[in-house]
Amino acid sequence: PQLISQIAAGEVIERPASVIKELIENSIDAGAQRVQVDLEQGGMRLIRVADDGSGIARDELPLALSRHATSKVAGLRDLEALQTLGFRGEALPSIASVARLVLTSAVAGERSGWRLAGDGSDEFAEVAPAAHPRGTTVEVRDLFFNVPARRKFLRTERTEYLHCEDVVRTHAAVRPDIAFELRHNGRTVLDLPAVGAAAAAGRVAALLGEEFLRHAFEVEEESSGLRLCGWLGAPTHSRSQADQQHFFVNGRPVRDRVLSAAVRRSYRDVLYQARHPVFVLFLDLDPATVDVNAHPAKHEVRFRDGRLVHDFVFRALHRALADLRP
Ligand code: ADP
Ligand code: MG
Repeated sequence: PQLISQIAAGEVIERPASVIKELIENSIDAGAQRVQVDLEQGGMRLIRVADDGSGIARDELPLALSRHATSKVAGLRDLEALQTLGFRGEALPSIASVARLVLTSAVAGERSGWRLAGDGSDEFAEVAPAAHPRGTTVEVRDLFFNVPARRKFLRTERTEYLHCEDVVRTHAAVRPDIAFELRHNGRTVLDLPAVGAAAAAGRVAALLGEEFLRHAFEVEEESSGLRLCGWLGAPTHSRSQADQQHFFVNGRPVRDRVLSAAVRRSYRDVLYQARHPVFVLFLDLDPATVDVNAHPAKHEVRFRDGRLVHDFVFRALHRALADLRP
């Protein structure tokens, strides 16, 4: 019931940015080509994510808001083959337990869309007709209105907003084929049209800044089913900071010790220092050899063969950095 959802929400939903992450991942899972994010007061007052994805059929709206009803994980084999970002059917019910959530959606071929509102309790109102183009809009108002203890941990509007922007930028960088728009308090902050793979650098620029790309070195390496591509910042790059490190595994942002170790070791080996390397790297490998869902909120991954991944990444970066050495 509600308490369980709130406890689950505590694990996944820390702040507005965590809500946005879940909603954007759902939009991507739904095959959206365009994702629009609207925020008010750093997302604390309003988060609205609208997409043009597959939509949710009328009968499935209540299921989308009930715990585990939608879990896509049927067994271990499923977990291994899992490629979509969502897997636990937990995000929407968790969010609905700690905020006022309204879900509006329409599937192709229907004359009307449908709307369902949750009010933080388990009792969801009736599904009502609502005009909506194909796709889904999720509106989340007054995050933690019913959980003062969590509300207390929210920071200033500016800080919460910057976390939200970071989530949008990160997803925009990984999926250049999707258009992203971000508005804050009515003002358009990001307006990124979809681009082909060849123009992905533009998206990375949106993530790390033009300045980064001008001084960045491209990495591209493939061997035995592993592929690494992306950019390494030149060591002289002035914006070097810990938050300028982006690793994506199969399109998903991750933080991982195996990968960090490989990066640090290669920088140390080639450049004799490993302080604050700046990079954006995309590692692609067989989904069956990596569990990306070790902890959904913490961006952890577990590689079946960590040694293999470490050595591959280390060698690839070693080669790229050696080219870059003065
Ligand atoms: P999960 O993504 O883990 O399945 P969520 O709670 O995030 O669980 O979402 C529940 C379900 O609601 C999803 O499995 C999906 O069927 C549906 N859903 C949520 N958001 C969208 C969306 N933007 N477009 C289409 N379907 C959605
Ligand atoms: Mg989800």
